[in-house]
Order: sequence, then C-alpha cells, then structure tokens
Amino acid sequence: MFFDLIVVGGGAAGFFSAITCAENSDKSVLILEKTTQLLQKVKISGGGRCNVTHDCFEPRELSRNYPRGEKSLIGPFHRFGAADTVDWFSSRGVTLKTEADGRMFPDTDSSQTTSACSVRPTPRGSPFTPPKA
Ligand SMILES: Cc1cc2nc3c(=O)[nH]c(=O)nc-3n(C[C@H](O)[C@H](O)[C@H](O)COP(=O)(O)OP(=O)(O)OC[C@H]3O[C@@H](n4cnc5c(N)ncnc54)[C@H](O)[C@@H]3O)c2cc1C
Repeated sequence: MFFDLIVVGGGAAGFFSAITCAENSDKSVLILEKTTQLLQKVKISGGGRCNVTHDCFEPRELSRNYPRGEKSLIGPFHRFGAADTVDWFSSRGVTLKTEADGRMFPDTDSSQTTSACSVRPTPRGSPFTPPKA
C-alpha cells in the first residue's frame, strides 16, 4: 500500500498535521501510533476537560504567556491563532466556552469531545478510519 504522507505519532500534533494535509490536498495520509491509544494526552489534558485555547486573540499578547517561547511564537500565532483554533473546532461541531480566567474548554467539559471530533469524518471527507474501541 502506498501513502503520500506518513505521520509518526497519533497525538495532537500528528492528528492536526494529518487532518490539515488530508483536507487541503488529495494526498493520502497514514498515522502510525506505537501504542494502542490515539490522542492519549488529549484525553487527560485539562483534568479531562481539555483546555483548548485561551480567550486572547492578539498574537503578541498571547505569546507573552509563554516566557520560554514568547518571541518565536508570535509568527506561528499570526498564522494560526486562538481565533483559528475556535473556528477549527466550530467547523467540526465543537463549541467552546470561556471561563472567568480566559481558559477555553469544549462546552461539554469533556476532552472526549475534542478527541472524537479529530477522528470523525468531516464535511470534506473521511481521511481516517476511526480506531477500534
Ligand atoms: C496531565 C496533562 C494535562 C495537560 N493539559 C493540557 C491542556 O489542558 N491544554 C493543552 O493545550 N495542553 C495540555 N497538555 C499538554 C498537551 O497534552 C500536549 O502538549 C500535547 O498532547 C502534545 O501533543 P503531541 O502530539 O506533540 O505529543 P503527544 O501527545 O505526546 O503525542 C505523541 C504520540 O507519538 C507516539 N509516538 C512516539 N514515538 C513514536 C514512534 N516511534 N512511533 C510511533 N508513534 C510514536 C506517542 O505514543 C504519542 O501517542 C497537558 C499535558 C498533560 C500531560
């Protein structure tokens, strides 16, 4: 079997990369994961609720929250910032809510919502075969 892109690691970064490639090209993508659990860290993140992003839509201001990467994150946040994250999840049917301290979570308060939407078929097709339970 031939794949145009092979992503090593079925975590948040691997899934996001694979989804982005699959949805913006006609390339075939394979994710290789060494464990039996996809998106394992996403499921435990934010105490099981997954703190998806922060209610801060200005790249420079957002980057100030990362003392060890402040300058290097300004560019990436211009290309894909908090508003893009909100839109990305919204386009997959996941609504985010903002807490008093600015943290944004899925309105279900469950990280299952964010991991499930990453393996679900999207309006542009189904790049993935969902994992077996
Ligand atoms: C307790 C906890 C709470 C957190 N809470 C939050 C939060 O609320 N909000 C937030 O934004 N972030 C949170 N984080 C951080 C977030 O979970 C991570 O930044 C994110 O999951 C990292 O994703 P990743 O894809 O880079 O790496 P990983 O999630 O580590 O994924 C890497 C994957 O690659 C696989 N792999 C490794 N080597 C190989 C190989 N040789 N072949 C095949 N597969 C391989 C691994 O098994 C793993 O599945 C939290 C982290 C922890 C531990």
